[in-house]
Amino acid sequence: MTKVSIVKCESYDQNVVEQAIAQALEHLGGVEKFVKKGDKVFLKVNLLKKNKPDDAVTTHPAVVEAVVKLVQKLGAIPVIGNSPGGPFTERALRAVYRITGMAEVAHRTGALLNYDTTEITEKVYCGKVIKQVTLMKAIRDCNVVISLPKFKTHGMTVFTGGVKNLFGVVPGLVKAGYHLNMPDVRDFSEALVDLCLHVNPALTIMDAVVGMEGNGPSAGRPRNIGLILASSDPFALDTVATSIIGLGPDQVPTVAKASDRGLGLKKDIEVMGCPVEKVLIKDFDVPALRTFALTSKLPPLVVKYLDNYVKPRPRFIYEVCKGCGVCAANCPPGALSMQDKKPHVDLEKCIRCFCCQELCPYKAVEIKQPFISRFMFRY
Ligand code: SF4
Ligand code: SF4
Repeated sequence: MTKVSIVKCESYDQNVVEQAIAQALEHLGGVEKFVKKGDKVFLKVNLLKKNKPDDAVTTHPAVVEAVVKLVQKLGAIPVIGNSPGGPFTERALRAVYRITGMAEVAHRTGALLNYDTTEITEKVYCGKVIKQVTLMKAIRDCNVVISLPKFKTHGMTVFTGGVKNLFGVVPGLVKAGYHLNMPDVRDFSEALVDLCLHVNPALTIMDAVVGMEGNGPSAGRPRNIGLILASSDPFALDTVATSIIGLGPDQVPTVAKASDRGLGLKKDIEVMGCPVEKVLIKDFDVPALRTFALTSKLPPLVVKYLDNYVKPRPRFIYEVCKGCGVCAANCPPGALSMQDKKPHVDLEKCIRCFCCQELCPYKAVEIKQPFISRFMFRY
């Protein structure tokens, strides 16, 4: 059985978080089971973009600091890192670390912040859809990876947790290539499963103290969840995390694709700490996946035809838009053009990756469900 630990953690008070994480790891056999003296440990945080901790977009610094201290206590060396959206440059990293609170964590604890933007390409032997991947080299300079995802909804993949967090080891704009080559959420999710197996984190500790619901992963609403989740198996962790908000495996593409491979199956999971039934959230606002649930069992041509009518699409709120052009600069297929300082989308080209919504600094992009889709999928 794979263990997934659920521990209550009602605030980001440093002591409270440290106790909760220590307890969560105790259920798994203690942090020393995963980290040894002298190890160099890459802490793969979620730093999507330059958001303050209270925005609930990025892994909270109190969670990162707690893990840094545990690692240091064992005589190992923690390195905090991630490749945010947009260009992967030292300048961009500096700004992200400062605003997300990581620079302060490093200052207080002596943990290292990664500024190495070197890329490496590796073969993916376990890959079903990706046979080769480009990664940030810094992760390979460490011998242990601990993933620290944030509990959030996601416009394309419904949920972004332990599995999707590892997409952040793909350097900056290289990510766009994955969206471009795999515009279908099923293929993209399959690739995320491949990547997760390839990176193979020793531990995943999820910041679900305050998560994000609605228009995630960056434009939704912070939502108190009050939990820390941990597991050595990111697939099992995501299965449990999504079940807390009432989602079954077939409603979350990464969980569905993992379970097709026999990964993260409920029957193989032992929940430690709080039982799922005691922490269920019945009214969590989740973006329904309007294409996957309907189309997964239909022939591809039928899927393509139906998708034109039911697929959600980005909608730009021009009253809020500041005309910064970040969305257009990061649109993988170049479906966006700036006209009179406002983005315009060519829906024929748009692959519904929602990078525009993810990276807009002003929450000026929302995901709109076509009327017929809302009518057809009333769950
Ligand atoms: S990123 Fe947001 S604010 Fe900037 S141009 Fe696009 S929609 Fe407007
Ligand atoms: S317009 Fe937005 S959703 Fe469409 S392809 Fe570009 S970034 Fe992706």
